[in-house]
Amino acid sequence: MRLVTFDDYRIGVLRDDGVHEVSDVVPGWEPGDIWAMNRLIARWDTLRPRVEAAAAAAAPKPLDSVRLRAPNPAPMHLFAAPANYRAHVNEMVQQFGGGAGASGDSADTLGFFLKATGSISGPQDPLALPARDFPTRRFDHEGEIAFVIGRRAQGVSPEDALSYIFGYTIVIDATLRAGDGRHEERVQRKSYASFSPMGPCITTADELPDWRQLQVKLWHNGEQKQDARATDMIVDIPNLLSRASHVLPLQPGDVYTTGSPPGVGRIAPGDKIVVEAPGIGRMQLDVVERDW
Ligand code: MN
Repeated sequence: MRLVTFDDYRIGVLRDDGVHEVSDVVPGWEPGDIWAMNRLIARWDTLRPRVEAAAAAAAPKPLDSVRLRAPNPAPMHLFAAPANYRAHVNEMVQQFGGGAGASGDSADTLGFFLKATGSISGPQDPLALPARDFPTRRFDHEGEIAFVIGRRAQGVSPEDALSYIFGYTIVIDATLRAGDGRHEERVQRKSYASFSPMGPCITTADELPDWRQLQVKLWHNGEQKQDARATDMIVDIPNLLSRASHVLPLQPGDVYTTGSPPGVGRIAPGDKIVVEAPGIGRMQLDVVERDW
């Protein structure tokens, strides 16, 4: 099943004929309810049959008649893996003489970082750069595979990790690079509003049963720049989940974006970014200058 959030944070099932609204199935849903997807996921085992029935009964809304939001606009945590592809670590060392992958560090030794969940934006929202504030700094795209937590996960083994995954989505981990003698916290450089575009849907794990098949491609102004394959990760998906769950409990709806493959490149206002993942979908984003 492909789940979406749309318009005033309604919940829907995405099918070939459009979006089938199922908001009424989510306990306590109301317009503007940015937390609804977390509650739906937390009670998925009992709500799934009702979601299926409501989707079957709802008339489809054509995709071009709705505004898609991030499929989970407000997870409790947005985890991210740094330096999780060997070839990306190498390109960072070549271009910057360091970065997250300096000194041989990788996700294997660094663990996770967090992005502020307020940086999450939807698949139809522009990626807005604070370019006026940083005229000489560099903004980069990182097209990443992301997984969504299905149930509270604390101290989970890698062997059991997959049973805690609800589904998968795409996240672009946009970044302001350090520079000009300034080294703001990575959390801040990656947490500007709209720096975590997510979508277009969450595809439930039963439709993507083998995480090794997951793949995300990214095009910048029509040129393919990135091709993330889950099998190329330094720390794979079961181990990312397991290791984070030994730090703190992961909550239903939490999103973990798994790191950037090589091909990271600079973005500027006027650019167009396309990301696509088999089984998940496609997002096309305009890069603009922030107007505030
Ligand atoms: Mn990243």
